[in-house]
Amino acid sequence: MRPGLYLSLALAVIGAAAFFGLRGDWPWQRLPLPPAEPARAAPPAELFTETADTLQSGETLSALFARHNVAGIDFQRLDPSFALNPRRLRPGLVFTFRRPASDSAPSHIMVRTTPEQRVTFRRMADGWNAEAQPIRWIPQEMRIEGPIDNSLYEALDAGVSNQQLDSGNRLRLAWDLADVYAWEVDFTRDIRPGDRFKVVFERLVSEDGEVRFGRVMASDLTISGKSLTAFRFTPPTVRSALYFDTDGGSLRRAFLRAPVEFRRISSNFAGARFHPVLGRVRRHEGTDYAARPGTPVMAAGDGVVLRAGWAGGYGNLVELRHLNGITTRYGHLRGFARKMGRGTRVEQGHVIGYVGATGLASGPHLHYEFRINGVAKDSRRVKIGGGAPVPKADRPAFEQERDRLLAALRQPTEVTAQPDAIAQQAAETSKRWMP
Ligand SMILES: [Zn+2]
Repeated sequence: MRPGLYLSLALAVIGAAAFFGLRGDWPWQRLPLPPAEPARAAPPAELFTETADTLQSGETLSALFARHNVAGIDFQRLDPSFALNPRRLRPGLVFTFRRPASDSAPSHIMVRTTPEQRVTFRRMADGWNAEAQPIRWIPQEMRIEGPIDNSLYEALDAGVSNQQLDSGNRLRLAWDLADVYAWEVDFTRDIRPGDRFKVVFERLVSEDGEVRFGRVMASDLTISGKSLTAFRFTPPTVRSALYFDTDGGSLRRAFLRAPVEFRRISSNFAGARFHPVLGRVRRHEGTDYAARPGTPVMAAGDGVVLRAGWAGGYGNLVELRHLNGITTRYGHLRGFARKMGRGTRVEQGHVIGYVGATGLASGPHLHYEFRINGVAKDSRRVKIGGGAPVPKADRPAFEQERDRLLAALRQPTEVTAQPDAIAQQAAETSKRWMP
């Protein structure tokens, strides 16, 4: 092999490795790629080098392309679906320029404009041709289990390895799991030592080997000795995905367990231990949620506003009237959502106000009361209303999916495929765009 040829070949390998190794700007990690094969195993038909360049803040595409001896592309005329509108470009986009060894200008330019697509420019005899290729994300089911000793965050963080999901995606898993049980479990205070979780979730792996969290498929929580099982299922007659229990009953209830989104309560506050905020001078008839000032407060159930205004020790208070003599109160608010007046109809989960420290409050928190005929109660003991069960016509499909997920929840192996094998597969498929 001539020295010059050998050098170009090495450059091509380094260039390709640099391209595959690029993290890009997406908020998830890449799987480690297997080591590159020795270059002589499969010599490419044409030798080339690849250079990656990043669009800087305030820089135009023309300026970036000019650095690589590329001119004459009219970006204004590109298909809008390519997401390369010069006025809406975000800095940090990474372009890869591939230059044949025998040429001073590139013949191909590649860029990931969205997580779902790559745009490739090809040099033709009379100019440049651009086309978009979709990026495939392959779903993979994974199973994890473990104890919940202190908080859901910590439990999932410890239960999922970095190779399965990075920390940002582990957080999304925790949030989504809390959403599945929003009517059943208040993760800021219901967790006790000895509680456990089992989750089957889907993660997505791209052709380029990137990994991100997909969705919760099934889970089984043991909270205070009680098993709470959830299965994701899309009834064909309803057509939106919902979570059901083993019998096909909906996990939805007439009232949320907590009127503050779990994801909005910082992990410091989401531990199992109770965080007293107030010195209790009077009998305390509600539940306090410590959260940052301004955190949105949600209506726990469908209802009508009884009052939204100042109420002594409660500070700014919203009181809602619901069916069956039930009322809920939300105190110490910093402010109210727009158009909150007596008689306003609100739906479960809609924002009604924002956490504050008005009235007799020593620090920012939400004071929440659930009352039946004026007497404070535990909303968990109220078994009224809720979502529709699996429709009769969809029962066979539900039972089939439930049994599949039950088996997946029970299976002893933790990883369905070896990460190396997935990275290998991803590395192979990612070469397909090379002509
Ligand atoms: Zn309180």
